[in-house]
Amino acid sequence: MKKTVLHIGLDDVDSPEGGCTTHLASILVEKLSKEALKFIDYPNLIRLNPNIPWKTRGNGAVALRILVNENFVDRIINNVLHVVVKYIGEFSKEKSQPSAVFFTGNIPSKLRWFSRKTVKDIVPLNLAFKVVEKVKAKAISFNGKRGVIGALAAIGEPLDNTDYTFELIAYRAEENYGKPRLISKESVLEMDKLFGTQTFLNVDYEIGKVLITPHGPDPVLLGIRGENAEIVLEAFKKIKVLEPIERWVIFRTNQATDMHLAEVKYVKEIKPYMSVILKGYVYEKPKTIRGGHVVFSVSDSLEDTISCIAYEPTGSFRNIVKQLIPGDVVKVYGGTRPPSPTHEITINLEKLEILKLAEHIAYRNPKCPNCGKTMKSAGKNKEFKCTNCGFKSKTLSKICIKIPRKLRPGLYTPPPRAFRHLMKPLQRYGKEKKTPPKNIIPKWHHP
Ligand code: ATP
Repeated sequence: MKKTVLHIGLDDVDSPEGGCTTHLASILVEKLSKEALKFIDYPNLIRLNPNIPWKTRGNGAVALRILVNENFVDRIINNVLHVVVKYIGEFSKEKSQPSAVFFTGNIPSKLRWFSRKTVKDIVPLNLAFKVVEKVKAKAISFNGKRGVIGALAAIGEPLDNTDYTFELIAYRAEENYGKPRLISKESVLEMDKLFGTQTFLNVDYEIGKVLITPHGPDPVLLGIRGENAEIVLEAFKKIKVLEPIERWVIFRTNQATDMHLAEVKYVKEIKPYMSVILKGYVYEKPKTIRGGHVVFSVSDSLEDTISCIAYEPTGSFRNIVKQLIPGDVVKVYGGTRPPSPTHEITINLEKLEILKLAEHIAYRNPKCPNCGKTMKSAGKNKEFKCTNCGFKSKTLSKICIKIPRKLRPGLYTPPPRAFRHLMKPLQRYGKEKKTPPKNIIPKWHHP
């Protein structure tokens, strides 16, 4: 019997009160793995534009990719929809607009284009439906159609010509939703010691915080992010979990790859909600504003400027930002916040690359030629007077001194606790992958 690849995209199942698209995906994995079909990849967890205002949490969507007899496709779709409807009935709240998209065959370039756009930009719903029609996908939504954007975008990013990472996500038993997550902190520290070079964002040592557990009422117990499937599974086995684990799945994902960032040359190219990399020079000195946020501005080669902000939660990163001075050549990385009546369009800093430091020149009053004490100025363009010996001079002028810079050129990031899903941590530089894994490990989900 002829086989075909069926791609199943899911999104917007969750709401702030509960439910989660990856959780639904993990339930589908259990159900589908009992059918006569083969998963051709780990479930793909695709993080989309992190700046869109209507996301619940991390703007994630999931694609499942299976090889199945052509004649079974309709039956599988019905089974999937049955599970989706049941899940929505149990967990989804009014605000979510759950959607499932189905597509068979190779991913067309139009669909790939749509996906990348959804990661980097805001896309209108009618564009999603145009693509659905063009590529002959099938979109089913409940409660509103918005989830189709993410579900379609997940299908269109098979992570086959781009960098990727893995995340093992474990889920809680329902009776524990909303309660504190019971895992041993020591075991997480131990795991990080053993696997810290191949996993990332486990712990924030600056404040001693474990980062593998979320805090909301959602079903996620923990997530371990790493470079390959074997490692995240080994690392998971080291964690002492003191509550029941309902299920776990290893996802292949665009997390920690910087896929959302687009390099722009000029400020005028920057639109709200994009994530950009802009090279320029520091125009206005950083200043700390209410709330502890640090703000400065950067100018491009056309002398157009844009504000950049390092928020208070970026912790020690702000100490680097504060040392910038006008003239420093930098690359700023971050998502853009749209303008409002109180502020202009602003780049929310995710990373800062210092390319060239300007000379820090300061002007000081001259020393008294008589007694060596620092003289005082009687006012702008007026004489200098020595308060020690009384010597006065109209000919002496301010002396220019070079203040050594403590800052060093290089790439700087906020501490791990301030990382969003798509941001690539420093430790991943040089570990980027270009081809998908050759095979799937035997045990990648439970049950
Ligand atoms: P979680 O991280 O828990 O999965 P979430 O943050 O993914 O939650 P959703 O509830 O999925 O949030 O809501 C995101 C909604 O925004 C979805 O309906 C999705 O289709 C839509 N969306 C995603 N990316 C874009 C985009 N670039 N432009 C327009 N809409 C988008």
